[in-house]
Amino acid sequence: MEAKRLRKPGFREARRFDKRLMHLGKGLVMAQGSAPRRLVAGNWKMNGLSRSLVEVRALKSALAARALSTTIAVCPPATLLHQVSLELKGTPILVGGQDCHPEATGPFTGDISAEMLADAGASLVILGHSERRHGLHESDELIARKVSGAQRAGLVSILCIGETEAERDGGRTLDVVGRQITYSLPQAMDAGALVIAYEPVWAIGTGRVPSNSDIESVHGFVRERLKKRFGGDGADIAILYGGSVKPSNAGEILKLKEVGGALVGGASLKATDFLQIIDAA
Ligand code: PEP
Repeated sequence: MEAKRLRKPGFREARRFDKRLMHLGKGLVMAQGSAPRRLVAGNWKMNGLSRSLVEVRALKSALAARALSTTIAVCPPATLLHQVSLELKGTPILVGGQDCHPEATGPFTGDISAEMLADAGASLVILGHSERRHGLHESDELIARKVSGAQRAGLVSILCIGETEAERDGGRTLDVVGRQITYSLPQAMDAGALVIAYEPVWAIGTGRVPSNSDIESVHGFVRERLKKRFGGDGADIAILYGGSVKPSNAGEILKLKEVGGALVGGASLKATDFLQIIDAA
């Protein structure tokens, strides 16, 4: 992926905001001459009205006073995407969508394409979230087409993978996430346009989290799969953990091996909570 594709409006101003920011071809956003930066992304799901922009403003002003070593993204509902991206113009905070249609345009009433997300100011998109895989029966094949569409539009995909409780109890976690990595990615995939989020379905919104050793073992397995698929580039793909990340547990989770950040649902809705998670990263 070309560096320019990852740039968001106001990049020059963003460099003044945090001079260490550099958008590179490989990896999402890297600090100059150092390891890939961590990514903490907030998934607002179907929450947020215009008045929620106060949370974005609070986040922006709190982060303006900090030297950021973590990449931050906010993924509001599509109705707020443009407003949020205008609000964050000139800052290094990225904006993402929560889903996209595989095609760029066409007779798909109610759908939104990756190009439309990009046009509204997004540089990322969450794909394959369990609320869509399980709630809306999205298949791996459909998700792969969406990832392909995101790549075509120059968006980085945050591909969500994770097992249900029954799959975990049946000892099938690694089979499930392995299958999702294999089949939810298109044949032509640029490692630089990909972030993985391991989100056990039973941990999302429940307050339950896997043990530290379970998180490390799944993330280690995912890393091996990515290296097998992408060679050396697979080592640079950020693997986020998601599922009931809160200010109280973020520090511990984000220290674990191969955890390159977090995808945060409920706790991203209030700037005060989200900031504590960012600080933990
Ligand atoms: C999510 O929706 O991706 C998520 C991880 O939700 P929560 O943090 O609320 O469990």
